[in-house]
Amino acid sequence: MSDLEQYEHHIGGEWVAPAAGEYFESTNPATGATLYTAARGSAADVGRAVQAARTAFEDPRWRDLSQTRRGHLLRRLGDLIGEHADELARMETEDNGKLLREMRGQLTTLPEYYWYYAGLADKIQGDVIPTSDRRVLNYTTREPLGVVGAITPWNSPLTLTTSKLAPALCAGNTVVIKPSEHTSATVLKLAELALEAGFPPGAVNVVTGFGPEAGQALVDHPQLAKISFTGSTGTGARIAASTAARFIGSTLELGGKSPNIVFEDANVANASMGVVAGIFAAAGQTCIAGSRVFAHTSVYDELLERVTERARSIRIGDPLEDTTELGPLAFADQRDKVAGYVDLGRSEGARVLTGGRPTDGGLGGWFYEPTVLVDVDNSMRVVREEIFGPVAAIMPFETEEEVVRLANDTEYGLAAGVWTSDLSRGHRMAARLEAGTVWVNTYRAMSPMSPRQGFKNSGVGVEHGTETIREYTRLKSVWINTSQEPVADPFVMRS
Ligand code: NDP
Repeated sequence: MSDLEQYEHHIGGEWVAPAAGEYFESTNPATGATLYTAARGSAADVGRAVQAARTAFEDPRWRDLSQTRRGHLLRRLGDLIGEHADELARMETEDNGKLLREMRGQLTTLPEYYWYYAGLADKIQGDVIPTSDRRVLNYTTREPLGVVGAITPWNSPLTLTTSKLAPALCAGNTVVIKPSEHTSATVLKLAELALEAGFPPGAVNVVTGFGPEAGQALVDHPQLAKISFTGSTGTGARIAASTAARFIGSTLELGGKSPNIVFEDANVANASMGVVAGIFAAAGQTCIAGSRVFAHTSVYDELLERVTERARSIRIGDPLEDTTELGPLAFADQRDKVAGYVDLGRSEGARVLTGGRPTDGGLGGWFYEPTVLVDVDNSMRVVREEIFGPVAAIMPFETEEEVVRLANDTEYGLAAGVWTSDLSRGHRMAARLEAGTVWVNTYRAMSPMSPRQGFKNSGVGVEHGTETIREYTRLKSVWINTSQEPVADPFVMRS
């Protein structure tokens, strides 16, 4: 065990040992082997990190840095991530089991997020507001909030952290990140790269550890100006309650149970690929997983056959291998959760068309076979609840009206897919589906430029695009009377 890497917190630009002196292990889900140990964060560590972030926020080196120069730092950070993309991708694959192919793709495009916000940094500006008295000037400014807390999950550690970090820094905030206990390493490396890029010490801080300990301490810290969170709806609800009671903002990107709808006029070959990508990519461990598939009765059998056939041929194995198509679930409990849901589905009357079994992938890890469930309906828990694994529930429908009703009959509203060759139907469905993102004849497309928002229990607030800057700034209205004329009546309201 002694040759394992031991990570400390990254606070105020330095490696800082945990106050309580405790560490926890992070494992490789493909093999079950311990990868490294990381500091187990406590309220004391979080307090130190928030203080470092607050000091950095008030430091003229950050506070008075021009917006253009702030953008330049983001650009440099993006460049550095690009230079380290291979190393970071491999670290993430070893930590969470997602395919190296996929993580390489994510890391190769990740610099674009920083470049996007680099370009946006000096476009953050207020307005001049018309007044009824020309001697009075009224203008607005957009100010940074202060210290932003970012709590992120394990499924795409750097990408999901970046969705918060890049706009928060772009707007002039400083940040304390609490990554998932399952994936600490790359986020710590990101803090190092931020320092190398020229961000002042304390602008980016990372406290590792467990959600109920370090995470909760961060949420509850009185000096925090905002929390930005990605994770489960249950944790999101607790965070929303805590931030609401203190009147600070939260951006919440939560779970999903997204419908992927195949109409009778769809290109079924492409649609079946979209269904496979929607639920089996990343072993279904994405918030946008297309876990509820609705197929028109006239194409239901063909779609089922194509998806099932492809699911059976998916190559399960070492996520570091380029030929592997399905890696493990991120940790043992997650694999057990998926297995539990499929068993529950069976007991509810679902039929397992393919898959339905845990496996060690020949490597001793926590894999689960790509699984297709049929004979299911919206009343079953496997159709209503987020499984976060490679499990598709496929259901037939007859009419557009019916499928709109079925697709919207969920507590979630993160994303939806529509497959049709009729573009007017595509537009119609996009308008009627209660989801923050709708894809027509594609699935899982995203970019830093495109805003996304969860409807219903899938979240609050916008990530990506220019819109998200509002989430990390507050608006100030400034009134200046340029006249020195005596005030005649102090009791008249001015405008
Ligand atoms: P959680 O919501 O529990 O975890 C997400 C992040 O929040 C992690 O960093 C976690 O830390 C932290 N956290 C947990 N409890 C608290 C708390 N009380 N206060 C502050 N932070 C906290 O999700 P899980 O990782 O446990 O995954 C469970 C389910 O959530 C999945 O099966 C899936 O359904 C959903 N999920 C959705 C994601 C999405 O992208 N929308 C991403 C990940 C999960 P720690 O890791 O130490 O617990």
